[in-house]
Amino acid sequence: MVVGEAEGLWPGVLEDIERGQARGIYRSAAPPDLAGTPVPRRDLLRNTARRYATVHAVQTGRGCTHKCRFCSITAFFGASHRVRPLENVLAELHDSPRNFMFVDDNIIADRPYARRLFHAMIPMQKRWISQCSLEIADDPELLDLARRAGCRGLFIGIETISQGNLTALEKGFNDSHGYARRLRRIRRAGIGVQAAIIVGLDRDDVTVFERTLRFLQRCRIDALQLAVLTPLPGTPLYDDFEAAGRILDRDWEHYDYRHVVIRPRRMSPRELQDGADWLYRQFYRWDRVALRMLRATAALGPVAAWLIWKLNRTYRYDNRRERIVGRNPARPDSIAARIVRRLWDALGDAHDRMTRNRVGRPADEL
Ligand code: SF4
Repeated sequence: MVVGEAEGLWPGVLEDIERGQARGIYRSAAPPDLAGTPVPRRDLLRNTARRYATVHAVQTGRGCTHKCRFCSITAFFGASHRVRPLENVLAELHDSPRNFMFVDDNIIADRPYARRLFHAMIPMQKRWISQCSLEIADDPELLDLARRAGCRGLFIGIETISQGNLTALEKGFNDSHGYARRLRRIRRAGIGVQAAIIVGLDRDDVTVFERTLRFLQRCRIDALQLAVLTPLPGTPLYDDFEAAGRILDRDWEHYDYRHVVIRPRRMSPRELQDGADWLYRQFYRWDRVALRMLRATAALGPVAAWLIWKLNRTYRYDNRRERIVGRNPARPDSIAARIVRRLWDALGDAHDRMTRNRVGRPADEL
């Protein structure tokens, strides 16, 4: 087993296996130099490429210099960022399909590098998505360059609508007071936004779910990746929860951001689970997905809208497959509200069934 990055280790692993002398665990003594990262043989995956978005993935660098307490990236790479030589990346991009994704943890982590990369990409006329910090909104020139280089969507760690939570997570630089303005700038540049949101943080009470849903709608967020607060081993957040005796569940299968594994501070574990499920379900309600699509087509153009449609369909599919319903713990349902909600959901389910052939397994087509 290789723990950590495989470059530099992999040839030795294969040799050991060929000699029948595989050692148990392999670890790099130091982070490898990314100049030696080979270009993947994507041609070997031609038959499966249609099914997996990550086949068309390109990486320019690894890591992030921020130190957010919950983040596995910092725990894995340290608070550092390394890039591949730009000429290697550009050579790989020349042979990549028109639509692809950057799998960097933060595509603007090294801004001078990102500027050079985006400049060089403009004539290529590619279309891509990536992970990125919200800080791109504060740099209009970089934002414009990203769009001209083909950026159509960004996955951004908003995390929480509470500045107190951000400060506690050591992610105060996100500045919750400026969310609306900064997100508007990104969308005005013609780039869609998928937000990563965490619920169950120490300043969250039972009202957080409804407030977050309203915020996401107000800021016209195009897709949501919702996480129940999960302290991953190796992160400072895990140490905090361990020291406070607030870890309730050590079954690692439940560390999937969908299950409650900690004792929240301002609500019960049951309320957190119900509220997170409710928020997830509500965001991907079929009428909201339809509205989002219309809005994205008008505001971002057909390519971004198509991408957003695929993402929404995938999350909605997951939502239904796991039979997520939830309940808003801040507002107990009346019987009448429950009946109306069930009817509304049934209507959405009927629509999904009618389009089943096309809905199929949307994750495959991303
Ligand atoms: S900015 Fe994002 S990638 Fe960087 S440490 Fe924070 S959460 Fe992790």
